Amino acid sequence: KSERLRWPLRDTLNSRMFLLQAHKELSHLSQYDSLTGIPNRRGLDEFLDRVYADSEQLTLVMMDIDEFKKFNDTYGHLAGDNALTATAKVLEHNALVTGGFTARYGGEEFIWIDTLHVRRAVLNILKNIQRDLAQENILHEATKPGRLTLSMGYAEKQQGESLTELIQRADTALYAAKRGGRNQIIHAKTTD
Ligand code: GH3
Ligand code: MG
Ligand code: MG
Repeated sequence: KSERLRWPLRDTLNSRMFLLQAHKELSHLSQYDSLTGIPNRRGLDEFLDRVYADSEQLTLVMMDIDEFKKFNDTYGHLAGDNALTATAKVLEHNALVTGGFTARYGGEEFIWIDTLHVRRAVLNILKNIQRDLAQENILHEATKPGRLTLSMGYAEKQQGESLTELIQRADTALYAAKRGGRNQIIHAKTTD
């Protein structure tokens, strides 16, 4: 009699475990970008929820592929997808090497977070990323160097600065990098 009772109970437990596991896998998957495999916006939020408030030293970098609309127009959307994936690979590799965090922020925009290095070292990391991307040698005739390039704006978190403010400053620096001719790394202005 007790056998008969145990089986349905086991089924219930099994399906519960299955659902829990499935939920875990889905919430993991939902934090990654399906094209490039690196964290997406949700993964970035998750990461920043964990580290932002307690980080005294944190640099946020906004990155944006140069003239990417023209890239798609010239070489096709599929080549565009491959270029995005190649860029993400370069970022992922450098994140692994330097202890940084990177995510696809949306479209052809990426974000980089560093919590370990001072300004000069961060700048070197960013230059290495540009150099690595240059070595991928992805043809892009519409840009000055004739290959795929990234513009960057970076800002260090100021005391008490909100994430929104920090992103805004990095984004303004990115905009300056675009205006300045692209394929550049610009440091953000500090407030007050
Ligand atoms: P800028 O140098 O000023 O950044 O110019 P841009 O052309 O890179 O910027 P713009 O915002 O005008 O164009 C972004 C382009 O990125 C347009 C859009 O079609 C393309 N894009 C966004 N997401 C994807 C994607 O997942 N795959 C492909 N192939 N293209 C994408
Ligand atoms: Mg853009
Ligand atoms: Mg762009």
